[in-house]
Amino acid sequence: MTRSVTVIGAGIVGMCTASYLQRAGLKVAVLDPVEPGGSCSFGNAGGLSPGSCVPASMPGILKQVPKWLTDPTAPLVLRWRYAPRALPWLWRFVMASRPETVERSADAISALTAPVFENYAPLIAEAGAEGLIRRNGQIYVYESEAAFLKDARGWDIRRRRSAKFEVMSADDIRKAEPALAPIFQKGVRLPTHGYCVDPYGLVQALAAAFRKNGGEILPHRVLDIEMDGNQPRTLVTDAGRRPVETLIIAAGAWSGQLARKLGHKVPLETQRGYHAMVADPAKTPNATIMWAERKFLATPMAGGMRFAGTVEIAGLNAPPDYSRADQLLAFGREMFPGLGGGTVTRWMGHRPSLPDSVAVIGPSPRVSNVFFAFGHGHVGLSCASTTGRLVSELVVGSKPCVDPRPYRIDRF
Ligand SMILES: Cc1cc2nc3c(=O)[nH]c(=O)nc-3n(C[C@H](O)[C@H](O)[C@H](O)COP(=O)(O)OP(=O)(O)OC[C@H]3O[C@@H](n4cnc5c(N)ncnc54)[C@H](O)[C@@H]3O)c2cc1C
Repeated sequence: MTRSVTVIGAGIVGMCTASYLQRAGLKVAVLDPVEPGGSCSFGNAGGLSPGSCVPASMPGILKQVPKWLTDPTAPLVLRWRYAPRALPWLWRFVMASRPETVERSADAISALTAPVFENYAPLIAEAGAEGLIRRNGQIYVYESEAAFLKDARGWDIRRRRSAKFEVMSADDIRKAEPALAPIFQKGVRLPTHGYCVDPYGLVQALAAAFRKNGGEILPHRVLDIEMDGNQPRTLVTDAGRRPVETLIIAAGAWSGQLARKLGHKVPLETQRGYHAMVADPAKTPNATIMWAERKFLATPMAGGMRFAGTVEIAGLNAPPDYSRADQLLAFGREMFPGLGGGTVTRWMGHRPSLPDSVAVIGPSPRVSNVFFAFGHGHVGLSCASTTGRLVSELVVGSKPCVDPRPYRIDRF
């Protein structure tokens, strides 16, 4: 069995994986030029969602394509200039909306999200980060009964995977969340959901505990992977060369480039998302609130009220279009008329996304001693703890907590 492991990527997935590997008794180093949690894991909506299992591509999605190209306020937009490059991925994304693929994806996502709290528990206890977690439910709100009915398939998918939820009337919503504008006609409360009040702080806390226990985090970018036969031997980094025994690729939206160096062509795209955050809000909700039609989450974070979500397909290199964040803020103020508040900050992050919304996890079938842990899309914070545990079990060869087959890299 291997004794030394190198993890590429210090996002929430890389740090959960490194922490579980360390708990299994291995010597672990993490490489990332960005500080732990400084990329996509920095600005997400914080949702910890054991009932999340609905893939992003659902039946009927093809009808929405014209809106993606023409309506700048749509929950998903595609930048014209990037469209030719995105086309093959988008085609796979649309194809993943077939009912049998949706069911398969929902099973695979659910296996990762359902035990989210149980698998975070030992890591959070070790990091002393209990104060960052709230377990007070989540509410989806709909402006119209028609929109709620349009989502029926998604709720049925969740119900069949034992997600707990209860439907709310307009009156129930007003009683539960008086800060909300009285514009929502229907709601769904998921009592087992929760959230993290500071997703960046969570990764930082995991990193601090990992270092305290002897783990190394180095600010190096991996440029190349040199092979010895069919296993990696040396990482070429921007700070020199480094021998490697077992390698974990957890580099989020950038993992496709590294996988390609090992001969794996993966359809990994980035679904860019935005947030706007208002410091010192006058009024906040009690739980996290998802505006279902607009596809963003309102989260009362430690540092203010955060509105985060939506999708922009524009690749890894285009500059952010902060009008997307401004749009989120405008919707947020419509949602909470008494929001008030002070300074507004805006952020963009790269969700690592596979067309079927299912992450790539597990060993490379081409080369020895390489494992993947990327592509968790919209639910990476909720999947990271189970992913970390699963990868460590696969590395040490113990019984995996989740059947790893649905996450194979060669499924495409
Ligand atoms: C707006 C928005 C809202 C979201 N809300 C939620 C939510 O409520 N709940 C939820 O569960 N999920 C949510 N997500 C999704 C979640 O944030 C992501 O799935 C998750 O952060 C991905 O984590 P990661 O560790 O894979 O990637 P990242 O956090 O991006 O980390 C990858 C790291 O790899 C490093 N890296 C890349 N290439 C190299 C290299 N060559 N060498 C060394 N290091 C490298 C990068 O620098 C980066 O730090 C949201 C995402 C967005 C954008």
